[in-house]
Amino acid sequence: MNSKIDQQVIKVIKKEYIKNDIPWYIGYSGGKDSSSMLKLVFNALKQIDFFHKPVTVLYCDTGVENPIVTTYVYDTFDKLKKECEQLNIPLTLKIVKPKLEDRFFVKVIGRGYPTPTNIFRWCTDKLRINPVKQLIDKDKKAVILLGIRSSESEQRDRTISKHKTNNQYYLKQSGSSKNIIFSPIINHALEDVWLTLRYNELPKSIDFEKIRAIYQDAESECPTYRESKGSSCGNSRFGCWTCTVVRKDKSMGNMIENGYSELKELYDFRNWISEFRDNVKYRCSFRRNGVKGLGPITLEGRKIILKKLLITEKISGLNLISQEEIKRIYELWEIDRINDNYSENALQQWL
Ligand code: SF4
Repeated sequence: MNSKIDQQVIKVIKKEYIKNDIPWYIGYSGGKDSSSMLKLVFNALKQIDFFHKPVTVLYCDTGVENPIVTTYVYDTFDKLKKECEQLNIPLTLKIVKPKLEDRFFVKVIGRGYPTPTNIFRWCTDKLRINPVKQLIDKDKKAVILLGIRSSESEQRDRTISKHKTNNQYYLKQSGSSKNIIFSPIINHALEDVWLTLRYNELPKSIDFEKIRAIYQDAESECPTYRESKGSSCGNSRFGCWTCTVVRKDKSMGNMIENGYSELKELYDFRNWISEFRDNVKYRCSFRRNGVKGLGPITLEGRKIILKKLLITEKISGLNLISQEEIKRIYELWEIDRINDNYSENALQQWL
C-alpha cells in the first residue's frame, strides 16, 4: 500500500515521464534513497501502458565498493531484471565501471597516488562521476533521476538551494546545460524513505529487510552523478571500502560488529594504508609535474602495498584486485623504473 506522499510522487513521476521523450537515467547505489526512488519509478511505470523513451538504471561498480553491498546490488539487479520482464516494465539495468587507468589500485599501486584525503580527493571523479557521465553524455539531452532529499543534511540543503529551478523536483546539473536532475523524493523525510521501502510491495527484488540489514543505521551515499566536491562520501556503506578521506571508517567497524567478519581484513588494510601513505620514507622527492616536493609513493612502497593487498585478499577470501589491474600496475612500474625522478628506492628484487 502506498502512503499519501508516495501516491503523490508516483503521480509526479508519471506526469514527468509522459511530458517529453528525453531519456531517463536512474542513479542507483543500492542505498535506501536510490532504492526507494527506484521503487516509486517502477510503480509509476507499472501504471503507464505506453512506453516511449528509455529508462536506464545505472550502478557504478568502482571495483572497490564494499563487497557486501556489491554482492547485494548484483543479486538485486539479477532479480529485478527478471521481475521487469515478467511485469513488462521497460527498465534497462546497466553496470558501469571506471576505465582501467582510473581504477583505485591502478592509481595507488601503479602510479603511486597517495590514497585520497580531503585535500587531495582525486577519486570521486575518476571512480564514480566519469563512468556514469561518459554513458549519459552520449545522449543529446538526459534527465538524471537521483534520490536527493532536502531534509538529508545542511550540506545537502545548501547544494539544493544552489541548484534549484522553478520546479521543486528539478535541480540544475552543474557544468551541464543539456542535462537536468529530477529528484522525485526531494520532499521525503528519512522516515518516509523507510516507509516507501517497506510498504511498496513491488518490485519485490528491492528487499526492505535486506537493505535494513545492511544499514542498521542511516548513512550517506557517495555521489553517482553529482558534484565531486563537498563533504566526503566516505564512512558510508555505499562508498569504497578503501576510502581514506575519513580518518576512521565507523560504518565498516559497525558492520564487522554486526557479524560481517569477512570485512575485518579489509578494515585493517584500510587503516594501515591511511597511515602508510603519509610515511615520507616511501614518498618520492619529485611530484609528477617534475617539481621538487612530496611526490608519489615510491616503487618500494607500492610493492609493499601490493603484497599487503594480496595477503588481505587471500585471508579474506574476497576478490579485491583483478589480473588486468595487476598487469597494468607492473607496466606502470616499468615506466617509473627508468625515470630518474621516480626510480629512487626502487628495489631490484621485484624485477
Ligand atoms: S567513497 Fe571515498 S574513496 Fe570512494 S569515491 Fe567516495 S570519497 Fe573517494
